[in-house]
Amino acid sequence: MDTSIAYDVVLLPDTDRAVAYRKRAADSGCSLMGVTVAGFGAWVRDLWELYGDGRTFVSRLEREALLRAACERAADGDCVDPESDKRAQLDGASGRCGLAEGCIAEGACALVGNGETEALGLDRVAAACVAAGVGLPAFDAAVRDACQGVLAGAGALEGVTRAEVPVLRMIGGYLDRLAQLELIEPGQALALLPELLPQRPLRVLLEDAAPLTPGHEAFFSACPWMGVEVRAASGSQGPVRAPEGVRVRFAFPSGQYAWPALLADIARDALGAAADRGAAPAAVAAPAAAAGSAAGDDGASSCEDASGSADGYRDGRSAGAQAAAVVVAAKDPAVLFGRVAPALVRQGHVAALRGRRRFADTAFGRAICSLRRFLDEGQAGGVAHIEGYGDIAPTDVERWDRADLADWALSPFSGMTKKAAFKLDADMRADRTARRSDLCARLRADNPMFAAMERLALQLDAQAAAELEAAVRRMTNRSEAWRAEQLAALRALQRAADAAKLAGLGADAAFDQAKRLKVNVSRIVAPRGCDGAALGAPDVLMTDQNTAASLGSGSCRVLVATDLTSAAYPAADPEDASRVLLEHLGVKRADSALARMRRAFFALEHAATDQLILERCLNDSSADPTYPCVVLEEFVDCYRDDPTATEDIDNPYSLPERLQDGMLLRGEDALCANDALSDAPAPEAARIEPPLTGAVSSEARSLVVLPRVLQGGQVLDEPCLSPSQIESYLECPYKWFAQRRLRLDDLDEGFGPLEMGDFAHNALHSFYKHMSEDLGEAKVTPQLLPQARKLMADVLARHKALQPHLRQSENRLIPTSQVEHRELAELERKLMDYLDFEAELLPTFAPKYLEYDVACGGAVDYAGHKLLGTADRIDVDGEGRCAIIDYKGSISGSYALGVREEGRLGKVQALIYAQVVRRTLGLEPVGALYVCYGRRKMISGAYDGRVIENAHLPNMRHKDCMCADRPFSDVLDETEEAVAAALERMLAGDIRPRPETPEACKWCPVSSCSERRG
Ligand code: SF4
Repeated sequence: MDTSIAYDVVLLPDTDRAVAYRKRAADSGCSLMGVTVAGFGAWVRDLWELYGDGRTFVSRLEREALLRAACERAADGDCVDPESDKRAQLDGASGRCGLAEGCIAEGACALVGNGETEALGLDRVAAACVAAGVGLPAFDAAVRDACQGVLAGAGALEGVTRAEVPVLRMIGGYLDRLAQLELIEPGQALALLPELLPQRPLRVLLEDAAPLTPGHEAFFSACPWMGVEVRAASGSQGPVRAPEGVRVRFAFPSGQYAWPALLADIARDALGAAADRGAAPAAVAAPAAAAGSAAGDDGASSCEDASGSADGYRDGRSAGAQAAAVVVAAKDPAVLFGRVAPALVRQGHVAALRGRRRFADTAFGRAICSLRRFLDEGQAGGVAHIEGYGDIAPTDVERWDRADLADWALSPFSGMTKKAAFKLDADMRADRTARRSDLCARLRADNPMFAAMERLALQLDAQAAAELEAAVRRMTNRSEAWRAEQLAALRALQRAADAAKLAGLGADAAFDQAKRLKVNVSRIVAPRGCDGAALGAPDVLMTDQNTAASLGSGSCRVLVATDLTSAAYPAADPEDASRVLLEHLGVKRADSALARMRRAFFALEHAATDQLILERCLNDSSADPTYPCVVLEEFVDCYRDDPTATEDIDNPYSLPERLQDGMLLRGEDALCANDALSDAPAPEAARIEPPLTGAVSSEARSLVVLPRVLQGGQVLDEPCLSPSQIESYLECPYKWFAQRRLRLDDLDEGFGPLEMGDFAHNALHSFYKHMSEDLGEAKVTPQLLPQARKLMADVLARHKALQPHLRQSENRLIPTSQVEHRELAELERKLMDYLDFEAELLPTFAPKYLEYDVACGGAVDYAGHKLLGTADRIDVDGEGRCAIIDYKGSISGSYALGVREEGRLGKVQALIYAQVVRRTLGLEPVGALYVCYGRRKMISGAYDGRVIENAHLPNMRHKDCMCADRPFSDVLDETEEAVAAALERMLAGDIRPRPETPEACKWCPVSSCSERRG
């Protein structure tokens, strides 16, 4: 080991790399006594703590929160251009700047870069400028001049546009606020430190260094007593061929279904039998522990002995221990781990994850974000303009979503059992009157977890956070890694909350920030009976590209670099407004996305000792083709004689022939094998015959119609049906089965045709009842219209008031939004208008039976079976003739008797009632009518043209409905015969989908029906 060059300080680009450096040095026996090994930022922080003026470094979260507060204040003037009095709007894509009124007030103006899909808020643009520019003379001078009112283009603001000046002024305000809070930007500290540091020789090595930023360069030039050596990270110029002895292979799953299966195959092949696991050296801490050590911001480590050498590590690191036999570098390792690890463990391998997960994707993050959405009153605020309804503001019920509370209830942070959570969800959905405040009060009283989470979600209460932390620690039925992840998420929210409080912001800002945070996640899973953590190194480590790159050369036998597509790793730097502003001030970019990718790829190439496998999914989740990322193309070019030629790579893999050797492919056709992540045939556990469709099995046939309980408690065992059921079966047998027997009803209490229909029926029933009781009249006549309208108004008012007191099962009509209130008002108007129509209808008849139970509490015979049901209304004349009236909200052509000429039966409810009434009441039916009270008042059905005059049935297509060539009773008999045949089919179990008209399919709940029409 070469110990001839010694350094006092070894600086690495980040804390992860510093930790990895120390580990590799320890593995290779290189002493670091007295050597400070740290990330650059952590080292500067340490120096400031020792030699600074006592101010504390501002954290990224605090910076963003303070700038957000400044940005909100800016809406009141700070960010307004003094010349035009307009607010700033920057266009980062082209560097153009414009001025537009109102953009800050609408949530910080839009700044969209070329490669960006998401607009950056002004506060985040300012934060990026501050992080890169503060401490640099040109930037500081520009901020100073902007605050002193110098105009764009003058003084230090030369090159700065008018729209950028208010941003600089806002940054000035932020720096003043920072000073008041006794905080300091790292850039400011870097500029001040050369004056404060003791001027004694210090040997500094910048190892694996990225290009120095202007701030770093200025710092080292201002400290001439430091002997600085920079060892640039390799690979900035682009990939090279893989090291000698390392086999390069390419893997191409054809799509997202094949992707995890192929990666599992690769890991399995690389590992061989589980018994070979010992081949993986066991000298590195388990990833869980490693991730933990890298989790903090500050990774500085100082040792006492100044004679230690860091240089020996550089040569000896490949001799050190391996992180795992197989390392997989993935864009989202947590997702990959979730899909692949269980299959690997089943085959006896130990798999580990070291990665980062978005706060909102952790169990805690999801739960608290769902609860906050539920509690946050203003989430659906604003006014919408709806055609036909005008401007509509959401009501309280519309401002919250039941699904948000259900998501929280089903999370581990509700303290509820699954059964209780599902019940809460079902109760909420079945009750349109459920109020958020009532639900909260109930949950607050019963559930301490809810109370704590509510306080945290709304008030960022620190005590609530402590209670939740204790609760997570008590969740011993969960793995330690899971608990660590949730605690990390909780702490992330607390950090965001502290930053928001410092800046005087509310919970909104804290949650916005928390949602952008990521937390460390680590897992290790091992076969039963094997202590994975004790092994030291797992068989497979899944991690992100940066972490894999920091593991060092020779850190694994097989390195699998996945997701090497241009979409996952774009090479272009985002052209946002912060970059444009910094360029205007002469602050140049030190690094680029492409250079970072090249360095990472170079490190990955050298991480493997045996195989380097490069994976690119050929199609993305939308089945669109993918394209290789730039570094993959560059790497392939290293193996080509003429990189400018195109013929040799004109194939689906974009590879020359020599690199196609040993390619790993997997298609998406083997669905089951891909899903099971194994090509081994699945053992047959049970054989299940495909379900019978279109018919009820002979064993279940007796249950096609369930026994009925009649009034008085008598149970009727023989099949008993209602006219509406029969009509539904005739419409389509399978629809009847789905609606009536499977009951594919929605869980949510509705506000639709069913509820509207029941409301209208009840109101009309009540109206006629009071006509005869209060006015002593049975029929509405033109003369009685004024009293009838008064009565109807009274009836409607009482029925509206009654709705909230009805049971949910009574199809109550509860409007909860302005739109629904207007729909109810519209229905009332229709019913009121219906009175005019009613005054012209059947003047020689009068309503005699209302909501008439045709079976009088029992069951009557019809079509060879039992029947029960209630006719809406039966009008009778002085001659003992009757017309059955069925109220409808709307009617179609199928209601007319004339459809029988097309060979179908059409609607039969009123005809069935007519036949039954003929037998039970001894009346002579002369009409079976469907009367529409909807927007277009009209009548359809069948009537005896020899008895009822056409003029007494207004708005009817008489030629389609009239029966004049034969007795009306023939129509009733013919209907009963057809119904009897249909009932035989029903009771024989025939439920084939057979829609009578395309209209039957319109509102059918059977979504996957091969016979669907229309
Ligand atoms: S979709 Fe049409 S054919 Fe199919 S079950 Fe429903 S109504 Fe019948």
